[in-house]
Amino acid sequence: MLVLAISSVGLIFVAVALMVILALTLGIAIATVSDKFKVQEDPRAGEVVKMMPGANCGGCGYPGCAGLVDAFVNGKVTKVKTCKVINQENAQKVVDYLNSTKGPDGKTLKVTL
Ligand code: SF4
Repeated sequence: MLVLAISSVGLIFVAVALMVILALTLGIAIATVSDKFKVQEDPRAGEVVKMMPGANCGGCGYPGCAGLVDAFVNGKVTKVKTCKVINQENAQKVVDYLNSTKGPDGKTLKVTL
């Protein structure tokens, strides 16, 4: 009876140890894959979105203001007035910001009104 009780405790210990090893292995694997495939976001996009009208009207040909801002920071669109709604003051702020702030690659953009 005593031998049976000890072996049951031993089995529980082995099961818990295996679960801990499995959890650590999977945790390390997830952290490694997550780090390898992470998408580096351009921090300028978040700042420029705040300067946009926020109407998300689609008049620029993008589904929303964030789409046009992504096109700015990726260099696909260089004219800020592609936004049909933005006023002159905010458009100038966007131009000044993007032409003077370096992105993750260490370079500034060349955008115009
Ligand atoms: S036209 Fe301007 S306000 Fe409309 S979705 Fe494009 S960026 Fe936003």
